[in-house]
Amino acid sequence: MAKQDYYETLGVARNASESDIKKAYRKLAMKYHPDRNAGDKKAEETFKSLSEAYEVLSDSQKRAAYDQFGHAGVEGMAGAGAYGGGQGPNFSDIFGDIFGDIFGGGGRTSGGRGSYAEQGADLRYNLELNLEDAIRGKTVQIRIPTWTGCGECRGSGAKGGTAPKTCSTCGGMGQVRMQQGFFAIQQTCPTCRGRGAIIVDPCLKCHGQGRVQEQKTLSVHVPPGVDNNDRIRLAGEGEAGVHGGPAGDLYVQIHVRPHDIFTREGTDLYCEVPVSFTTVALGGELDVPTLGGRVKLKIPSETQTGRILRIKGKGVKTVRGQGPGDLLCRIVVETPVNLNKRQKELLQELDNSMTTEARHHNPQSDSWFQRVKHFFEEMKF
Ligand SMILES: [Zn+2]
Ligand SMILES: [Zn+2]
Repeated sequence: MAKQDYYETLGVARNASESDIKKAYRKLAMKYHPDRNAGDKKAEETFKSLSEAYEVLSDSQKRAAYDQFGHAGVEGMAGAGAYGGGQGPNFSDIFGDIFGDIFGGGGRTSGGRGSYAEQGADLRYNLELNLEDAIRGKTVQIRIPTWTGCGECRGSGAKGGTAPKTCSTCGGMGQVRMQQGFFAIQQTCPTCRGRGAIIVDPCLKCHGQGRVQEQKTLSVHVPPGVDNNDRIRLAGEGEAGVHGGPAGDLYVQIHVRPHDIFTREGTDLYCEVPVSFTTVALGGELDVPTLGGRVKLKIPSETQTGRILRIKGKGVKTVRGQGPGDLLCRIVVETPVNLNKRQKELLQELDNSMTTEARHHNPQSDSWFQRVKHFFEEMKF
């Protein structure tokens, strides 16, 4: 099924401003939010499409890519870009910012500092490494956009010198009881939206959020042996919490770039080695590369193409210390090209000598012709 245009999904014009997009999303997301449509599959799907569209259009970089290339431009962007949140880069932006306001206390709540402190979102950073660095380990500097605690108000969200006031409607509980006939129902406090406190004078720097968005540089120690999809967790290096909540974690996801020579499989390394047909026929020795330098590989005489020769202990160790495995060299026999007249004559001579002789020089062809002959007999051609 073709994917709907993101602008259409949100019902906005292609030149809509950032705030128009946010407004449109906010309106629709409230309508289709799972909390309000429990068990409604259709609403859930719509809500997912809305979030996806918003994730792309609210990010100027992704929006530009989408405008230029359509869905293909942003496909897998959370994976391919330098930065992606666990559930989309703007997870905390969407839910902290919008739903935090609408539904009150959305997200994880910590018991730490008041009922309205929220833990910051976990972040994911995709780190590309070449094979050598993945195997040897490396310390890498990464820069990530993140929310950090606001220095101006020390995370409280209240203007310097003031403090958030306990909500008088709910007395700081975040919930109010309403009498309806015989029943008393508990409801999120409409005054403080469940936070239990009200910021009378919001901090000018963070607009009462208690945190600001910044770039930070981190030094990540990549241990030797990491492979694709290994994750390094940096506790507390995710986004800062809201209103003094604890920070989330940062997950560094490893992506190893394809190597020119080697392919890794667990503790083994594979490589293809082209060998001249004279060498495979007569046997010989070849220099092959390993991650520890050159080694000599002995090619036995009469080696067929596709044969795998194993060099013990020249594979790699995993990050958990298993290995090293072996280096497996797959022999690919190379047909000589650009032959001169004399060389062609010599080959022809060689061929003649082999067909006139009774010795079996081509075991595979011999067996193949036998099978073909048998096949023809069976089919009565
Ligand atoms: Zn502040
Ligand atoms: Zn209240």
